[in-house]
Amino acid sequence: MEKLFIATGNAHKITEFKEIFKTLGLEFDVVCPKDFNDDSEPNENGNSYAENSYIKAKYYYDKYKIPTIADDSGIEIDFYDGKPGIYSARFLPELNYKDKNNHILNEMRGSDNRGASFHCLATYIKDDVAKSYEGILYGHIADIQDGSKGFGYDPIFVAEGQTETNAVLGEEFKNKYSHRAIALGKWAKDLENK
Ligand code: IMP
Repeated sequence: MEKLFIATGNAHKITEFKEIFKTLGLEFDVVCPKDFNDDSEPNENGNSYAENSYIKAKYYYDKYKIPTIADDSGIEIDFYDGKPGIYSARFLPELNYKDKNNHILNEMRGSDNRGASFHCLATYIKDDVAKSYEGILYGHIADIQDGSKGFGYDPIFVAEGQTETNAVLGEEFKNKYSHRAIALGKWAKDLENK
């Protein structure tokens, strides 16, 4: 079975990657930094999801020479003029996600400007060739937090066409329709065509 390195230390993301592979009917011998006791991290100093995603994929590909997939993702909130975007993981660093999400909901209380989108840029490097794939999930910010599935901003995000947050809908929804599932779906199509 082909080895695939998932370039992230985020355990939630690794779980989602694996579940999405299953949904896509892909089988890999998956390894990640933790399998090498590697808690070093590349410096994510790019100016876009694409740059950061490439930085992560290249960092681990150069180190281990295993076909590598990385993603850089984030949430863009209209109320904050598109922020936190590529800084989503570093937004309000002093707060845990429950408090972070409450902080956002409090600031947005009473506002009709509730549009938001999740973005994912996946980069795959194999045989020294890098390719990237984009996924966007549009929706809005809920009035209250709900649900315990997923991670990060999932409890406050309601996707277009849905009435419940991603954290209520959980993996059944996210594995097919999330920004990450969309990007990986494009990657899988590309693998098929090779
Ligand atoms: P990255 O690891 O630098 O790509 O950081 C992405 C950050 O965006 C995460 O730490 C979360 O804060 C947020 N994020 C990305 N994808 C999701 C998702 O599927 N659900 C909830 N939050 C997400």
